[in-house]
Amino acid sequence: MLLSVSVDLDEIRHYCAIHGLPAASAPEAIYARAVPRLADWAAQRGVALTWFVVGRDVERSENAQALSRLAARGDELGCHSYSHYYDLIRRGADEMRREIELGVSAVQRLSPDAVRGFRAPGYTVSDTLLALLREAGLEYDSSVFPCPSYYAVKAIKLAAIAVRGEASSSILDAPEMLRAPTVPYRVGRPYWYRGMGIWEIPVQVTRRARLPFIGTSLTMAGAMGARLLAQGVLGQPLVNLELHGLDLLDENDGLSELAKRQSDLRIPWPKKLDAIDAAVSLLKRKGYASVRMNELAAEAARS
Ligand SMILES: [Zn+2]
Repeated sequence: MLLSVSVDLDEIRHYCAIHGLPAASAPEAIYARAVPRLADWAAQRGVALTWFVVGRDVERSENAQALSRLAARGDELGCHSYSHYYDLIRRGADEMRREIELGVSAVQRLSPDAVRGFRAPGYTVSDTLLALLREAGLEYDSSVFPCPSYYAVKAIKLAAIAVRGEASSSILDAPEMLRAPTVPYRVGRPYWYRGMGIWEIPVQVTRRARLPFIGTSLTMAGAMGARLLAQGVLGQPLVNLELHGLDLLDENDGLSELAKRQSDLRIPWPKKLDAIDAAVSLLKRKGYASVRMNELAAEAARS
């Protein structure tokens, strides 16, 4: 049984964009604070990490250096697009291709290993985007999130922002996406069917209730709740835990304005890390080996 822990490195300005807040003055707290916190924890716990990187962010040399060091110690670097447009799938194929190619080449410069994986901004993919990923030589995507409760909450939040007369840059998937398999599969057309396309490693949900097993739900649930959620994925041969850099930050990281809209920021980050640690420790105790996501994807392809 394998466990992959991956981290989306969305900088603070992207969260400001979701909530319709001005992004210009947003601090760069993800690379400065969240990355070292998580990297230290992973090193202590012997957890392999896969970092999904927004290409544009590694134009900052401090960010590039930090990721090079992580790649040199054996972490995987994946591509989280170049610009992190939430509406990437509504743009033309040429622009999507450019976002993939620029994103992959920015990350590739930092890693001794080939970049193999992609995660789409906002978990939103389309048949065209998935076909372009394969054309670009990528081996897997990990974006599909067949989670009814997450979908419902996102729909309500977007409606609330619209009602307030504000603009969000986030978009909603086709609801049919919720029919997608909850275990790794090769995508068909439409992508929520099985087929012969790129490997998809869906973002994890629990068995039966299909609750979200991601950083946000673990940190909001606290250590006890996180253990319960982890019980809900036990028995799955391949578990894909997705975190965000934001899971390692709180309002005292210069984020008091954002914390008014983003309630998980009101929980102190060490407490959030305890919850993530509780879930990961339980899975490791039950026999899960921690691997990079490309290893998990390769195992899916083998079996
Ligand atoms: Zn993202």
